[in-house]
Amino acid sequence: MTSDPRLARRIEGLLRDVPDFPKPGIVFKDITPLLADADAFAATVSGLAESARAAGGVDLVAGVEARGFLMAGALATELGCGLLPVRKAGKLPPPVKSVRYDLEYGSAEIEVPHDIAPGSRVLLVDDVLATGGTLRAAAQLLTEIGAEVVALAVILELADLHGRDVLADVAPLDALLSV
Ligand code: AMP
Repeated sequence: MTSDPRLARRIEGLLRDVPDFPKPGIVFKDITPLLADADAFAATVSGLAESARAAGGVDLVAGVEARGFLMAGALATELGCGLLPVRKAGKLPPPVKSVRYDLEYGSAEIEVPHDIAPGSRVLLVDDVLATGGTLRAAAQLLTEIGAEVVALAVILELADLHGRDVLADVAPLDALLSV
């Protein structure tokens, strides 16, 4: 994907840094001002959709709970494809696949529905890439249920945490903004 410096600047201006949330020492990147700006949100969704187009198209967009859902719904509509929720443990009815993994702050368990068409091509999307553990775990689950993860896309990459390196063998990763 060709990076768009204008879009990156626009996104940067609409993110809010919240120090010491949800734990001391974490600077939380709040995307709610970006979501509330109609033009910027539409441009963000279009930018993320480019990742799927560059990969040759997808059957499904998988969004990671909870903020990934906000992009995934809009993206699925823009791309004319379906949506697969990657949910926190205990939210989806069976059958599901689950995995526990480490976060920048704490640990988490995620699940995906088990019953997708084998070989489905998937764009996996989230708001922020930090250590890469979440997207790696989600991609692992998607592969286990027979999907092919063909692209990864995030609004924001926290480059110092090197999440990109953790995902190097998963699929091409696009970040609309890297800080
Ligand atoms: P990681 O697995 O470390 O890449 O963390 C990514 C997940 O945690 C994403 O679902 C993000 O929404 C969330 N996250 C991690 N760090 C931050 C941060 N500094 N600001 C906002 N969200 C974050």
